[in-house]
Amino acid sequence: MDIISGLAAASQALDVAKKLRQFEKSFDEAEFKLQIAELYTALSEVKIALADAKETIAEKDAEIRRLTEIQLGNLKVVRRDGFPFGVENGKVLPIPFCPTCEQAGTQNLFSSPIKGKFYCSVCHRTEVRIPTAPPPPP
Ligand SMILES: [Zn+2]
Repeated sequence: MDIISGLAAASQALDVAKKLRQFEKSFDEAEFKLQIAELYTALSEVKIALADAKETIAEKDAEIRRLTEIQLGNLKVVRRDGFPFGVENGKVLPIPFCPTCEQAGTQNLFSSPIKGKFYCSVCHRTEVRIPTAPPPPP
């Protein structure tokens, strides 16, 4: 469940709670029970949406940490045909860093191929071919 659905469920729960408060005395018992059931359902959906959002945020935080590490030029590299491949958690990244940027002290991954070409978004180096298989880990 996404955030938008979660917010919709929260809004629905608030509407039901508002109705319950306004008509507290005029509801018959069956209507009251129905409203309570709706409230529970809406709140359950809110809970699921928040749990999903928490998980998504944790995943994004991990990705930000990973990308920050790469951006800081902290990854070790192994080379194939002159191309530096980053090593992350013992695994070699499938796409190499741009050699031009590496000489300038930063690690920028080439883009995935666009019209058959690999592209560095920082220095605009373009490669038609990069090694198809990254080297083994060190
Ligand atoms: Zn570059």
